[in-house]
Amino acid sequence: MGNIAAIVGRPNVGKSTLFNRLTETRTAIVNEESGVTRDRLYGKCIWNGLEFSVVDTGGYAVGSDDIFEEEIRKQVLIAIEEADIILFMLDVTTGITDYDEMVADILRRSKKQVIMVVNKVDNTDRLTEASYFYSLGLDEMFPISSINGGGTGELLDRLVELFPSTENVEELDIPRFAIVGRPNAGKSSIVNAFIGEERNIVTPISGTTRDSIYTRYNKFGHDFYLVDTAGVRKKSKVSEDLEFYSVMRAIRAIENSDVCLLMIDATRGVESQDQKIFQLIQRNKKGVVVLINKWDLIEKDTMTTKKYEEQVRSKFAPFVDFPIVFTSVITKQRIHKALEMAVAVYDNKTRKIPTAKLNEAMQQIVHDNPPPSTKGKYIKIKYIMQLPTNTPAFAFFCNLPQYVKDPYKRFLENKIRKMWDFSGVPVQIFMRKK
Ligand code: GDP
Ligand code: GDP
Repeated sequence: MGNIAAIVGRPNVGKSTLFNRLTETRTAIVNEESGVTRDRLYGKCIWNGLEFSVVDTGGYAVGSDDIFEEEIRKQVLIAIEEADIILFMLDVTTGITDYDEMVADILRRSKKQVIMVVNKVDNTDRLTEASYFYSLGLDEMFPISSINGGGTGELLDRLVELFPSTENVEELDIPRFAIVGRPNAGKSSIVNAFIGEERNIVTPISGTTRDSIYTRYNKFGHDFYLVDTAGVRKKSKVSEDLEFYSVMRAIRAIENSDVCLLMIDATRGVESQDQKIFQLIQRNKKGVVVLINKWDLIEKDTMTTKKYEEQVRSKFAPFVDFPIVFTSVITKQRIHKALEMAVAVYDNKTRKIPTAKLNEAMQQIVHDNPPPSTKGKYIKIKYIMQLPTNTPAFAFFCNLPQYVKDPYKRFLENKIRKMWDFSGVPVQIFMRKK
């Protein structure tokens, strides 16, 4: 599960425009110079009450012209492997190109759910031309105009229909852990250490049914699920060093987890890919434990751990309240600790503070440090409640919620973090009218 739709197609067909429309982010930049890092890869869409993820495969800049086709081919293969539905985008104004034929060919053989999205159908004249695209041999086609929104409602209706209804995994009280990170960080190795068996299955890519998403374990006295372990262990034929690959892999695992163990290769440190994965974890409001793996390869003096830790936190700022464990899978150092921290973060994520305790502690803090008055308005916080959400969220009921600024909310968050242990977990503060 995970409900991921990936948009594939050659440059300029309108992937980014559709992505923005679906995710309603106006921040992504259309027609930017190639080679510039863009974060338009991943967003959430809600339609008829169902939330799903949209991935724009064009969000990753591709290299020089000669490897161009090959790179896009790889991205399509990864999208097939990792997404639930492929939106194959085409351009009615250019008709079918050789490149479209090539992609259609891959998609037809994939057995994946594919929807052709014929874009730039801005008027009814172009509607007839859109039907030519059926000659690509794919069954389903939606004519749309990403620019004016025409046809996108019908497309969304169909998507929501195709996504499976939500599994009732939220109700399990056994934690689900996902092991994420760049290629070669040691993900398969740690999974093997948990499982206690050596397995590295090499399978060719196909769009056929994937292995079960959750596998249940009982290790070191803890009962837990590992998410998408097959995906971790399976060594794919597709080039693993593609940034797109590791991020795409991570999305599904993150979405299906409660707590993510983000593995960093100690010899490389935190790089932009690690920051991207960390952001994905934050955006999905999941718990996180950072594992600095291959610690056996680092020359150490007494300060090393502390210095390293500070560096790591600064790379992931502003969120700094998370556990870091220095592991070595090879020498079996702190593997047990890593799992223990993941369990602790899960406990933090599910912690409920009794309303009386919450008010007792926070009212005092608010009394000592009241929110600064704005425009002569005096803000009075009356009571505080933890909301019945999946991640810790607190509502502060007050007379003028709109006058409470972000710095004060951050102040309250930090106090709550100090008072109760929410390490590794996002904490949300809401101001509500009372
Ligand atoms: P991408 O490279 O596939 O991500 O394509 P973009 O989203 O960057 O769009 C390429 C160009 O097509 C831009 O100039 C868009 O304004 C234009 N475009 C996108 N969607 C439509 C559409 O529905 N109708 C028209 N007429 N132009 C569009
Ligand atoms: P994955 O791509 O993230 O699944 O990474 P792998 O588990 O396949 O590990 C990549 C390489 O790093 C393999 O050669 C492992 O043996 C090696 N490796 C993994 N963990 C450690 C570690 O803690 N120390 C050292 N020295 N090597 C490690």
